[in-house]
Amino acid sequence: MAEKLGDYSQTTGKTAQMNNINAAKELSRIVKTTLGPKGMDKMLVDSNGHITITNDGYTILDEMDISHPAAKMIIEISKTQEAEIGDGTTSAVMLAGKLLENAESLINKNIHPTVICKGYLLASKKAKEIIKKISINESSDEVLRKIAMTSMTGKAAEDSRELLSSLIVQAINKVKDGDLIEIGRIKIQKVTGSTIEKSELIEGVTLEQTIAHEGMPRNIKNPQIALLDIGLEIKNPEMEVMSQVSTPEQLEAFRNADISGIKSMVDKVLESGANVILTQKGIDDLALHQLAKKGIIAIRRINKYDMDQLSRATGGRVVSSIDELTKKDLGTSGSIREVKNKESSLIYIEKCANPKAVTLLVHSSTEHISAEIARAITDGIGDVTSALNDNQVVPGGGTVEMIISKELREYARTLSGREQLAVEKFAKAMEFIPETLAENAGLDSINVITELKQRLENETVGLNLFTEKIEDTYLAGIIEPSKIKTQAINSAVEVAVMLLRVDDLLLAKNVPEN
Ligand code: ADP
Ligand code: MG
Repeated sequence: MAEKLGDYSQTTGKTAQMNNINAAKELSRIVKTTLGPKGMDKMLVDSNGHITITNDGYTILDEMDISHPAAKMIIEISKTQEAEIGDGTTSAVMLAGKLLENAESLINKNIHPTVICKGYLLASKKAKEIIKKISINESSDEVLRKIAMTSMTGKAAEDSRELLSSLIVQAINKVKDGDLIEIGRIKIQKVTGSTIEKSELIEGVTLEQTIAHEGMPRNIKNPQIALLDIGLEIKNPEMEVMSQVSTPEQLEAFRNADISGIKSMVDKVLESGANVILTQKGIDDLALHQLAKKGIIAIRRINKYDMDQLSRATGGRVVSSIDELTKKDLGTSGSIREVKNKESSLIYIEKCANPKAVTLLVHSSTEHISAEIARAITDGIGDVTSALNDNQVVPGGGTVEMIISKELREYARTLSGREQLAVEKFAKAMEFIPETLAENAGLDSINVITELKQRLENETVGLNLFTEKIEDTYLAGIIEPSKIKTQAINSAVEVAVMLLRVDDLLLAKNVPEN
């Protein structure tokens, strides 16, 4: 592996091409065993001994230590796939690897890379038309839940995929703003030390902070919440001012001024009617003491993201100056409460009336598991969101890939000359997905592909790995957003074409970093 993905040197012409192709094949080989519901996991260990166990294509590639430039370009496409959808990275990288591998045999037959690229681009355009043609217009909650379940099959989240899928769909429906869905509005909060079935949707926000003072209440019903991005503290006086202080009386005067400054801040907050103060900045001990005496909950040093979530969930406005704070800036929720256990402490600002931000609380026994479950949930959220964006969905289990493959072969016949060969190679590359799904499940992939080809003559079928049968995967609830397929093809073709056009690998001067 080191040879293919680590060391590289200046190469030209065919050697450069083959070198890049080998790197792509190697990446594809690494991720392919994770594909589908029966895929294996990878264990990644960094030089500090930090371990990640994952089935997620993007995470594997992102965490691998790779220096080969071609491999790096392929990792870039997995990043695009991750950013666009959040799922389908393994498939994208496998397709890129297969397209390059298949190009190799054409190059060896002296077919010029430019011709291969042209054929691949024609095939890609056609493939996207085929996806459009076979897409089903659907966005019911039932189908969305199935999409989330399909994306979680084979991951650590599999056993609880029914619960998690329904939480995902509920969460998205809550934060959806017309047609607009901002994935960031669903916070994923990992909690360890419990079981995944306890996972729940919080209609509001959870914070990892603690309530700032022992004397404050631990919960309040229907709180009036002030959201601040200023502190309730008096800055240390400037050094030059301090240097003018020469007597204890002067020092006392400074202290008194501080105390009255803080008191007036606290009074302003109270005047607004707030009984909870949540701030991004600090709060002085003196202020905390006074707030506690008034029965107010204060939480400090909340990060910007949580603050934005709080504002969206509670309807409150984040205020930058105490003088501005009025009753109408306050947010509300059903309750605020602190829950402490041995390992952690969490504050729930929950049961918001019309939350435009929510929290998915993911319980699990250990950190490694909760990290992997959170990744699966992110995939599910991405898939459901992209299905909702264009209402286009397709059957999974290799159905789409096999139909594309079949129709591309027919299309190839309409083309002349050498491009035809490239389109046929593209068609063959699409079979790599169902073939690997079968192989990873220990099935005979040749038999599976043969049967699929025969049955696709007059049925729409794929490989259902729950039943290990070839059947209508849509009816079996194995459903994916169309965009995952289009995007995977786009990314794979883009990088394959880019690498095929390279005929020299040159070592360049370092670009100075600024
Ligand atoms: P990716 O990173 O490409 O999303 P996954 O490991 O998530 O890789 O696998 C996705 C593939 O698994 C898709 O082709 C999908 O159709 C397929 N798949 C999911 N569930 C099933 C199932 N029950 N039977 C057959 N194939 C399935
Ligand atoms: Mg996936």
